[in-house]
Amino acid sequence: MSRAARTKKERRGRVGIRWWLFACLALFTILILVSIWIFQVCLLSTFYEKEKFSDLKKSADELKEYVAAEDARNAIAKYAKEKNICILVIALEEEHGRLLASADATSDCIIHHVNAQTLEELYADAKQNGGTYNKRFEFNDESEAEGEGRFPGFPKKGSSVNAIHVRIVEGNGVEYVMLLDCELMPVDATVRTLQMQFVWIAGALLCCAFLLALLLSHIVAKPLVQITQKAEKLAGGEFKVDFSERDAYREVQELADALSFAAKEIGATGRLQRELIANISHDLRTPLTMIKGYSEMMRDIPGENSPENIQAVIDETTRLSDLVNDLLDLSKLQAGTTKPKLAVFDLTELLHDALDRYDTLIKHKGYRIESVVEENPVFVEADRTMILQVLYNLVGNAVNYTGESHRVLVTQTVKDGVVRLAVADDGEGIPPEQIPEIWDRYYRVDREHRCAVMGTGLGLSIVKNVMEAHKASYGVESAVGTGSVFWFELPVIKKEG
Ligand code: ADP
Repeated sequence: MSRAARTKKERRGRVGIRWWLFACLALFTILILVSIWIFQVCLLSTFYEKEKFSDLKKSADELKEYVAAEDARNAIAKYAKEKNICILVIALEEEHGRLLASADATSDCIIHHVNAQTLEELYADAKQNGGTYNKRFEFNDESEAEGEGRFPGFPKKGSSVNAIHVRIVEGNGVEYVMLLDCELMPVDATVRTLQMQFVWIAGALLCCAFLLALLLSHIVAKPLVQITQKAEKLAGGEFKVDFSERDAYREVQELADALSFAAKEIGATGRLQRELIANISHDLRTPLTMIKGYSEMMRDIPGENSPENIQAVIDETTRLSDLVNDLLDLSKLQAGTTKPKLAVFDLTELLHDALDRYDTLIKHKGYRIESVVEENPVFVEADRTMILQVLYNLVGNAVNYTGESHRVLVTQTVKDGVVRLAVADDGEGIPPEQIPEIWDRYYRVDREHRCAVMGTGLGLSIVKNVMEAHKASYGVESAVGTGSVFWFELPVIKKEG
């Protein structure tokens, strides 16, 4: 099975964004419904009873003020009517107590039908409980029979559940017992209605969740699908594909930007690779053609076997081997297989060695290399061969690109324990926008200006890799029309003696 087909199959096995959204929304809906169910249906009667008892307690707090008042009876009756509760207030000043107020505002009241013994029990419970007591009374035909006349003369047939709040208060040196009563409505019917409604609400909400998931997934997935299609085009080698999405939200826009950048980079790398191959083949072919041409000429034409022609073949062979060596060096440096062999050596001596060799090579062509050395000797710890190569490359470029003066200046300065070697020329300079690129292999600003020394197009790339392998600083200051200064820096090693 091909890789693309396999990935497609794997992709199909995964859950899409639509289903994820639906699952999340459905879960959210179910959670809300369950919590409403628990509070509204299961705990409804508990909450309702609690609320009723709390209302009665509040009323008792307010009634405290009424009991010792002059017109207590009427005021209490009015209050009971207002609140729709039954109230019984007994002043405990005589042996059995005196009925202070009796407001029978509802038909299903229990306190007006309990016998004296029950009243006494309630009083005792309240007394024991610090003067306040809540009692839930359930009354039905059976309980009346069992209760041995607990609710004498209770008019209602059937069942009734009541909340009774007992409160003992003091007023004008007299103790009063207040009994407040309200009926607890059966909530079963309400619960059944809610249950019915819940089924409908749950169905409607789940449908809404599904529709919302469809809508959201469409909004979220559409730009992603479009970007995926474009990314597939990119994978197919179409580097000019445009990822920008006009209506996309921020995250998708960021993804599109990242992919656009990647497409640009991949395109540039591909172009560079093609140029690299073209350049290498060209540079290899030129000396090879020359060698072949000269050799054939010397073989076929008598008298052409001159030392000059042989020298030309040798020169081309040297150029070829330089190029191959440079390529090898660079590949090894970039692959990290060549590590600098660090040793302490005198940089000034190395500089003079390199310049001497260059001098003999170019003097007869009218070039002049001058050197200004601030301190001598200056020791550094580095790979001697690599630093020599860097020097050759920088000086070679300076000779190659210097101006009419045919002059190159090499300076060696020491500051803060760091030695800086700078190679300056007064050539055409490098345009600022091209400076970052000259360190890439095979990058050439202008192929026309090559004269004394033939370059391989790898020189600065080797400099960059060598300096990076040494973790050393390097760079160039260049201005178009004035020339360039290529430099690198190494830490100075203090040598005893
Ligand atoms: P080349 O063999 O082409 O010199 P390099 O890697 O050494 O390859 O340099 C890369 C490019 O940088 C050169 O082609 C040239 O355009 C530019 N360059 C390097 N040194 C100089 C310099 N001293 N003055 C101006 N341009 C330079």
